[in-house]
Amino acid sequence: MPDQLAELRTRLAEIADLHHAASVLSWDQETFMPPGGAMARAEQLSTLRGLAHQKFIADEIGQLLQDLTAPAAELDPDSDEACLIRVTAREYAKARKVPVALEMELARTTSLAHHAWVQARAESNFALFAPHGRKIFDLVHQKAEALGYQERIYDALLDDYEPEMKTAQVEVIFQELKAGLVPLLQAISERLDAIDDTCLHGAFDEHRQWAMAMDVLRLIGFDLQRGRQDRSAHPFTTSFGAGDVRLTNRVDPSYFASCLYSALHEGGHALYDQGIPAELYRTPLNHGASLGVHESQSRMWENLVGRSRSFWKFFFPRLREFFPGQFDNPLDAEQLYRAVNKVQPSFIRVEADEVTYNLHIMLRFEMENELLEGKIKIDDAPEAWNAKMKAYLGLTPPNDALGVLQDVHWSSGLIGYFPTYALGNLLAAQWFERIRADLPDLDAQIEAGQFAPLLDWLRRHIHRHGGKFTPDELIRRVTGQPLQAAPFMRYLKAKYGELYQI
Ligand code: ZN
Repeated sequence: MPDQLAELRTRLAEIADLHHAASVLSWDQETFMPPGGAMARAEQLSTLRGLAHQKFIADEIGQLLQDLTAPAAELDPDSDEACLIRVTAREYAKARKVPVALEMELARTTSLAHHAWVQARAESNFALFAPHGRKIFDLVHQKAEALGYQERIYDALLDDYEPEMKTAQVEVIFQELKAGLVPLLQAISERLDAIDDTCLHGAFDEHRQWAMAMDVLRLIGFDLQRGRQDRSAHPFTTSFGAGDVRLTNRVDPSYFASCLYSALHEGGHALYDQGIPAELYRTPLNHGASLGVHESQSRMWENLVGRSRSFWKFFFPRLREFFPGQFDNPLDAEQLYRAVNKVQPSFIRVEADEVTYNLHIMLRFEMENELLEGKIKIDDAPEAWNAKMKAYLGLTPPNDALGVLQDVHWSSGLIGYFPTYALGNLLAAQWFERIRADLPDLDAQIEAGQFAPLLDWLRRHIHRHGGKFTPDELIRRVTGQPLQAAPFMRYLKAKYGELYQI
């Protein structure tokens, strides 16, 4: 067993190196690469990812995993070794099921579709994207059939992002969430003017905004010896191992909150990646438990911490220093707290507040299922989208750029991904109830700018496990319960009930 395990580790380490090298190239593409590099970069990435895939699906890996099955059963199931063998076997079985020709066809199709989507969105012309969308859903359908599923075709796709989660479970959770959100939003909608957020808008020096973002990152515990913040069009976080975690941010000169909350959001992702132990580096366990668990970290720092009253009592004096003269009396911490929590039904998901955000996700989740199951056709997607927007948010998008064309995911073949955003929101609230029980002084600590106890809790209960457990195993282990909507609804009702006096 030691020989086979060492051999498996060596092979997985090489594969991890190829993936990390590709990630460096992707990061560079989004941050510093001149436009002229695009063609060559696409080739480089395709070569590296292809090599990694070939090495991973090699028969030898299958043989090693088979040889290790019996000895692994003798190990402590929580040990790094047992988890490594279990997770690798799971990923190997899936990777072997999808024909390489289909993966290549998907890569080619989505690459072309991305350009078509950019143009379609710019011109708000869905017809430009429709043929690509049709082909992508068709190929993804084939992929799901190749992967196999028991109940719902969506299960096969969701599993890539939320290992072992089933569509029916998401539906149950979303039903519960919808039952709570719709009446809450209805009540808030009658009092939308109760909060004024004009103080967030104005002219904010770009260098000062950047300094503010760096300040916040340092405060929450992001280690700059093991990470960087750089600029990109769309903020994201990527890890080349716990010793080098990159996050990106953007600056809107007329709205400082975008830069501040992107720093907290991406900072949450980055803290997770920096918290994964060095022993898991160069293995398939060197990432979070799932996209939903990852998003629970970013949304916790962004919303449960960064949009709390305690945070603003602490941060308001600093904000004043970053922008002298712009937040003088009568503005105070309470007004900033209220402003960053203004609820406003809107067309664009990424700009949505905490109350409306998940409704945007439910719409996409329902549509993806309906498209895959043939209940709606891609040509009818704009109409279906608008009908759901009206039902959920009471709005009708004036054009498809503000509707069905707004997100990049479908053009990239990322179908089954959207639910993870909402699951992350729910999970953040579920962790936070546990954290409050364990850290009774949490609010006072945040108000004093002491974020270390919270980070320490996250490190001990979540980060240190990396990808060793499925999300369901991790959530039950930490909270004693499966993922559920109730903690999130309790959080929203308490916070927004007070803010909107309902
Ligand atoms: Zn995120």
